[in-house]
Amino acid sequence: MLVLVINSGSSSLKYQVRDVAAGSVLTEGLIEKIGMGNGGGGDGEIEGPRDHSEALEQVDAAIHRELGELELGAVGHRVVHGGERFAEPVLIDNEITRAIERLNPLAPLHNPANVLGIRAITRKWPDMPQVAVFDTAFHRTLPEHAWRYAVPDELYTNHGIRRYGFHGTSHEYVTRRAAALLDLPVEEFDGVIAHLGNGASVTAIQGGCSVDTSMGFTPLEGLVMGTRSGDLDPSILVFLGRAGWTPEDIDTMLNRESGLKGLAGNNDMRSVVEASEAGDARAAMALAVTSYRLAKYIGGYHVAVGGAKALVFTAGIGENSHQFRGLVADRLAALGIELDAVLNGERSKEPRVISTAQSAIPVLVVPTDEEQAIAEATAAVVSSAG
Ligand code: ADP
Repeated sequence: MLVLVINSGSSSLKYQVRDVAAGSVLTEGLIEKIGMGNGGGGDGEIEGPRDHSEALEQVDAAIHRELGELELGAVGHRVVHGGERFAEPVLIDNEITRAIERLNPLAPLHNPANVLGIRAITRKWPDMPQVAVFDTAFHRTLPEHAWRYAVPDELYTNHGIRRYGFHGTSHEYVTRRAAALLDLPVEEFDGVIAHLGNGASVTAIQGGCSVDTSMGFTPLEGLVMGTRSGDLDPSILVFLGRAGWTPEDIDTMLNRESGLKGLAGNNDMRSVVEASEAGDARAAMALAVTSYRLAKYIGGYHVAVGGAKALVFTAGIGENSHQFRGLVADRLAALGIELDAVLNGERSKEPRVISTAQSAIPVLVVPTDEEQAIAEATAAVVSSAG
């Protein structure tokens, strides 16, 4: 089955056409500046599509230019927030679209854009099966002691303030691949998955299910990321509010100006590692903070799962930065974890073990592929509905 995978943002639309069985990408692209057209079309002014429907026309034209006539079997949407309702991918109908829309307050930047993408497809191809794959769904198995914040109950009951977790599609996909690499049925896999990209989160897996994860009510909680702070004392926000910072100022600072960027002046791990190796003390400090925080989470999650059988690195940094993996592993010696320098330094696109034979548990690198995971989930939902 050919699946069109859509990741719809407020002003952009990312797409891939996937052959699910082959696991291959037939074509892909990104439409930007949606709704930012100036209408004048003057010299040098770029005019984007007017809205998501016009963007979809461009996607359709690009797909046909690249691939000629083809039969799409379904469309799979990456949807950021599935709230408490969605624990699995679902076939979209009007009721589901409205349910996703009702979750807008929980993900004000993302869910409205996802709904625009869904409605654009519905208008253009009314009979096309569409599936929503939620970033939060895999974490619906978190026990209450992991998802509760210790605040008055009313914040949860009236405002839905609890931990939801994100990156679930990637954590689930990587869990399955890691279990397969270790020759374990996924239901017997207990481990810790570190998804380290621009956004980063770590998940505790027990019996193949998510039992804790570092992102919370929003993707801001947890690890030090490219531009996000991760955990901090909430009183800092009160302090800044009293000093005259607006909610928007605080939001921008925490989500866009913090993390590696705030500490080292650069949000790109490769550049920070290079600067540190060239003797830049700020870069070295940023790496120390980032790796230390991750190691603390891994230690905690080792406890949460009752003894992990593996530690898994994935996403841009996890798959590519042997230096960062090394820094984290150095801090995990107390758990008996030991990397093999040669295996850690090798470059490969295949899932692999990078620890020594003596290491208390294996350390793995398992490449993630969220679009393939969405395409597979979409095909599975459509087949079982048909
Ligand atoms: P996103 O969350 O945007 O999908 P990615 O998973 O692509 O992010 O990860 C981006 C991060 O991966 C950046 O910090 C980048 O520097 C890092 N990265 C990518 N390739 C390498 C590499 N070869 N060495 C070190 N870091 C890398």
